[in-house]
Amino acid sequence: MLTETPAGLWCEAGGFYIDPWDPVDRALITHAHGDHARPGSAAYLCAASSKPLLRRRFGSEAQIESVEYNVPLTLGSARVSFHPAGHVLGSSQIRIESDAGVWVVSGDYKRDADPTCAPFEVVPCDTFITESTFGLPIYRWDPAAAVVGDILGWWDQNREEGRASVLFCYTLGKAQRILAELARLSDRIVYVHGRMLGMIDEYRRAGVDMLPVESVIDAPARSRGRKSFAGELVLAPLSARGTSWMRRLENLSDAFASGLMRVRGVRRQRAFDRGFVLSDHADWPALLATVRETGASRVLVTHGHAEPFARYLGETGIQSGVIRTAWHEESGDGD
Ligand SMILES: [Zn+2]
Ligand SMILES: [Zn+2]
Repeated sequence: MLTETPAGLWCEAGGFYIDPWDPVDRALITHAHGDHARPGSAAYLCAASSKPLLRRRFGSEAQIESVEYNVPLTLGSARVSFHPAGHVLGSSQIRIESDAGVWVVSGDYKRDADPTCAPFEVVPCDTFITESTFGLPIYRWDPAAAVVGDILGWWDQNREEGRASVLFCYTLGKAQRILAELARLSDRIVYVHGRMLGMIDEYRRAGVDMLPVESVIDAPARSRGRKSFAGELVLAPLSARGTSWMRRLENLSDAFASGLMRVRGVRRQRAFDRGFVLSDHADWPALLATVRETGASRVLVTHGHAEPFARYLGETGIQSGVIRTAWHEESGDGD
């Protein structure tokens, strides 16, 4: 049904690619992270709730069609539908059915509750293509509500001590999830790096309830001087770390919110004051449960720890293999 080509995963029966990394005639997109949604294709198809995010990424000229979750379309000789993946707003698994059976491409996904997107739906299939960003047994997540409670505690502590709390997180998905989870615990304003404003606006337009934000750059100055960020929470993309943008924050404590923070060596190496283990990907138990629940007799693994995860599945009696991807958001803007 799907074959690996230099441009990405190709569906001959349907005449489309899924998340291609080169420009193609027709691209079906699982979600708006940069490693899945690449510019330059002639036509895009995505879930309805993903369309405004893709529009923002690709600009007004791009041809983007969308379809609601669970509504089947006929493309060539294939039936195609999009199903929630629970990863970020609009994220989808793509189900493809033809004479060759049913395939599901998971895209990135998680099973934990997230107030910013529709929950993952188990889609029964013969062949399941699963991501494995965190496909090692060390990766297990605590409930997000507990982690966000820790973030609030860290913010309060820094507030008492007159420091800014600078929390690095990904611009699409993680930032909005943190703002939405915090809205259940606080009503304080949060300052953000200007690059985060666009996607936060899109989430608000989609009806996601989040704390109010203001750009650090636009923050009103104190009389004559600059605004002090002592006591404030500031969200920023990792790429802002160590840049001159940080200077106006003055005395600060920094932290990173990512599944990567589960690994002590990574925490040390990156030298953040705090690490919050918060991921938009499935952890090890969730990957295994999901593979089992799909009922798939064959599982192909992509992203991150694909080889060991595929080998593990093989040992449990599931026919498994690895699909390569050009690059992944662990080094970019996703997690
Ligand atoms: Zn992603
Ligand atoms: Zn990804």
